[in-house]
Amino acid sequence: MARVINFSAGPATLPLAVLEQVQAELLDWRGSGMSVMEMSHRDKEFMSIAHEAEQDLREIMNIPAHYKVLFMQGGATAQFSFVPMNLLRGKTSADYVLTGDWGKKAAKEAGRYGKVNIAASSEADRYTYIPDPATWKLDPNAAYVHITPNETIHGVEFHIEPDTGDVPLVADMSSNILSRPIDVTRYGLIYAGAQKNIGPAGLTIVIVREDLIGQAAAGTPGIFDYKQMADNESMLNTPPCFAWYVAGLVFKWIKQQGGLGVIAERNARKAALLYDYLDSQSFYRNPVKKAHRSRMNVPFTLANPELDADFLKGAKAAGLSGLKGHRSVGGMRASLYNAMTLEGVQALVDYMKEFARTRG
Ligand code: PMP
Repeated sequence: MARVINFSAGPATLPLAVLEQVQAELLDWRGSGMSVMEMSHRDKEFMSIAHEAEQDLREIMNIPAHYKVLFMQGGATAQFSFVPMNLLRGKTSADYVLTGDWGKKAAKEAGRYGKVNIAASSEADRYTYIPDPATWKLDPNAAYVHITPNETIHGVEFHIEPDTGDVPLVADMSSNILSRPIDVTRYGLIYAGAQKNIGPAGLTIVIVREDLIGQAAAGTPGIFDYKQMADNESMLNTPPCFAWYVAGLVFKWIKQQGGLGVIAERNARKAALLYDYLDSQSFYRNPVKKAHRSRMNVPFTLANPELDADFLKGAKAAGLSGLKGHRSVGGMRASLYNAMTLEGVQALVDYMKEFARTRG
């Protein structure tokens, strides 16, 4: 078996133990005589998988009972629309803080449903920092404030949880959910596509405070309505069963590792290893303000971009995959999600050093 060290931004590397369990259970899930892909979502076997996954997620993230957990489809991109459809609640506008392309896309989509107020943006500085919350131009009458705690393309991450008072805070946590403990009660709604820290693509997790749902805009399709989804335990229609099952295994894996505290320490060490190296030399460079650097996605450029193709070719030969930067910013990007090991990051740093030594 030749598995690569996979730095892809998503879909992304999964814990080997989880993949091995999926393999072991693939043909016959625990004596059911069938794979999870072949089960009715209404049968007790799948219902037990679904409930256990939710319970484990609630436990790991310490999600209070007055929050609903939804297992949806359509990716985070669908949530760019579902959020305003559900959370405008008769109000006219929402605040968006732009710290990267994903937040900008979310704001653009929200503009189809209501007025969008850009409360702060670092676009003019190519999204290399998070505007100080003290400078945000928040509207006290906004329906909600939307942030992207980790911008996957630009490698910018919030290391604080901003206080938006009585206005609910909505967070697209697609690329840093489950990377460390958070205080769920500071958020009105959290959403995340699964394909980074949760499991396979096709599943989107929504964690929403109960009092915010039930006032979807007229014309909102039932399947996009958080209240209808919550009332039907995310089974208004056939859910992404297999992705839900694998996500459940990932939640168990996180518990076995010791929970989000342990995961967070590991993630901090992994990121420090790479950033310390980046800051120690001038062959490679990361443009993000130090205090706002992402622990999950580390973009970097080579001083001489003509070497990019060679860098990637050598990386591939060394078993390092998925390092090409996003097409909109170029350069490289190493994604260090939960399933990436410290040894994997060390292998990357060793390769980068050797490449710089021979080409620098
Ligand atoms: N938001 C963030 C922060 C992302 O990283 C991504 C995907 N990379 C998206 C939204 C879009 O997610 P999806 O492809 O699941 O719609």
